[in-house]
Amino acid sequence: SIIAPASKQTTTLLVAVKCRPLAEKERQRNRDIVRVTDDRDVIVLDPDLSKNYLDRVQNRSKEKRYCFDFAFGPQCRNMDVYKTSISSTIAGVIQGLNATVFAYGSTGSGKTYTMVGTQDDPGLMVLSLHTIFDLIKKDRNSNDFEVSCSYLEVYNEVIYDLLQKSSGNLELREDPAQGIIVAGLRCIKVRSADKILALLNLGNSRRKTESTEANATSSRSHAVLEINVKRKQRNQYRNQVIHGKLALVDLAGSERASETNNGGQQLRDGANINRSLLALANCINALGKQQKKGLAYVPYRNSKLTRILKDGLSGNSRTIMIATVSPADNQYHHTVNTLKYADRAK
Ligand code: ADP
Ligand code: MG
Repeated sequence: SIIAPASKQTTTLLVAVKCRPLAEKERQRNRDIVRVTDDRDVIVLDPDLSKNYLDRVQNRSKEKRYCFDFAFGPQCRNMDVYKTSISSTIAGVIQGLNATVFAYGSTGSGKTYTMVGTQDDPGLMVLSLHTIFDLIKKDRNSNDFEVSCSYLEVYNEVIYDLLQKSSGNLELREDPAQGIIVAGLRCIKVRSADKILALLNLGNSRRKTESTEANATSSRSHAVLEINVKRKQRNQYRNQVIHGKLALVDLAGSERASETNNGGQQLRDGANINRSLLALANCINALGKQQKKGLAYVPYRNSKLTRILKDGLSGNSRTIMIATVSPADNQYHHTVNTLKYADRAK
């Protein structure tokens, strides 16, 4: 086979951090307090301490340093993130692997930019589909392939189809053969990656957003692109069909979840807790523990999102978390919360 074999890493959970550049508008008011070094380390300056002369002289710990599997600075393009942290996993999906890639971070930190991207800097969703079709092209002589996509949203624990104009609430069903399925979700056959960016942008325009003081387009919704690859071997094992599944997730803003997590107490107003985000965070923590210490119970059943993602988070699957942060000093607490969380997940 011409296809590169799925990489032999034993890790099932990889953690990468991506720091976006300071926007032109921010430059006038904000200082840049995040440094990425050695492609792995992220250093954050405490904006209060580093301003204070006495603290500076006494060299109090105005710096926090974290180390990850991969770290990407503001000059990195989505292609760099893609090549380094997920391209080998995508090759595995063609071989029947299940994988989940998700962007975790506060609102405005660059999650959607990383996952969807722009024409000039296409994101991980677009790049993954391009690679899938490139790999398939090289392997067409011995295999038949079928690629299909669905794109859904989880908002307030209700599932909507982003590929349908005005989708109603979709139900989760447990199918004896297929496992958990979203009933009525549109799954479209895709023949090339060309139109995917337009499709994603249309889907994103259907996402539910809310106004908050912090950010006019703050989002509590999770968007899940699922790419299914079916491979039928033509020669040897005549009827063998291999099924790989890749979920790419643009998560809701983590600001509320991290406040809840780090404060160690539950917020009282149920509507303010993003159940799916907390449940995913708990699953990731459990997966991290599993990786370090062997078997641990992973609580998939606690939310819609974790039930949907279960196949791509368990068994012979690979999970990649891209934690996104802003470099701006006024985002210091969000940045530290995200890095602390990502650090615990490793
Ligand atoms: P989120 O989805 O986490 O709320 P966005 O992806 O919408 O955040 O990013 C916030 C803003 O920052 C957007 O205006 C986006 O275009 C910009 N941005 C994010 N990452 C980059 C990047 N790597 N290069 C340039 N602009 C970026
Ligand atoms: Mg977004």
